[in-house]
Amino acid sequence: MALVFLNGRFINREDAKVDIEDRGYQFGDGIYEVIRIYNGKMFTVKEHLQRLIESAEKIKLTITYSIEELEEILGNLVRENRLKLGIVYIQMTRGVSARNHLFPSDEKTTIVAYTKELNRPFESIKQGVKVKLVEDIRWLKCEIKSLNLLPNIMARQSASEEGCYEAIFHRGSAITEGSASNICIVKNGVVLTHPANNLILNGISRQVVLKKCMEQNIDVDETTFTIDELFDADEAFLTSTTSEVMPILEVEGRKIGKGLVGNISKKLQAAFEAEINVQCMAHV
Ligand code: PMP
Repeated sequence: MALVFLNGRFINREDAKVDIEDRGYQFGDGIYEVIRIYNGKMFTVKEHLQRLIESAEKIKLTITYSIEELEEILGNLVRENRLKLGIVYIQMTRGVSARNHLFPSDEKTTIVAYTKELNRPFESIKQGVKVKLVEDIRWLKCEIKSLNLLPNIMARQSASEEGCYEAIFHRGSAITEGSASNICIVKNGVVLTHPANNLILNGISRQVVLKKCMEQNIDVDETTFTIDELFDADEAFLTSTTSEVMPILEVEGRKIGKGLVGNISKKLQAAFEAEINVQCMAHV
């Protein structure tokens, strides 16, 4: 029986009930994180929890737990559920109160966390994927990992209906990010990716990859690139907690580079794998 964490208690999933007037349910008034579990251990957990706290601050949500306490709660959940490979999901909302746009005066944050088994997408990582372009109609605070994912969901669904793995957002001609991932292109040996500002979520996997570029002396330019530059790139790849470093071979039916997984993509995949090994596979 899988345990979940709800408002301070570890309980069976069937017993976990949240009121219909929870503000997450009614308004999407909340934030979340998804953390990868490899070998029963959390990958980049501190970075994810730090981003959770920053998201909370940006929407003025009260969190009464420290990063260390949250790490312990999630670690216990993973252990109790004997999860080896998967994800742990944590969500916080502005609690339950009679429906009103104003923040409740007696705000009590709803916190829920649960685990899920999830395999690594080895085949797509090896073979690469196709993506579709979608106009980015989201708000101007995309750096917050908020529950308001309707534009992301609509984009991903339309991509999937066209046989694509991911939808890539663009604001006018500028590429921002994927519906649930960041995007990098490689041109003449330089990795380009949108700057970490209010128009994208600063992905933890993106940060791992940029750090690996530094370590491997691969030049990085955190700059906006256009749709045409994407079409004209030597290589392109997505990064995310669940997709890791995922090569893009085709955009809107047009091949990127030679239409094969590129050398820099392969190098970064290997470096990402090594980081997983260091953080999660070491026998301690
Ligand atoms: N951008 C968006 C919009 C996302 O939803 C995600 C996945 N959470 C990412 C980027 C990638 O972030 P991360 O590497 O932290 O999973």
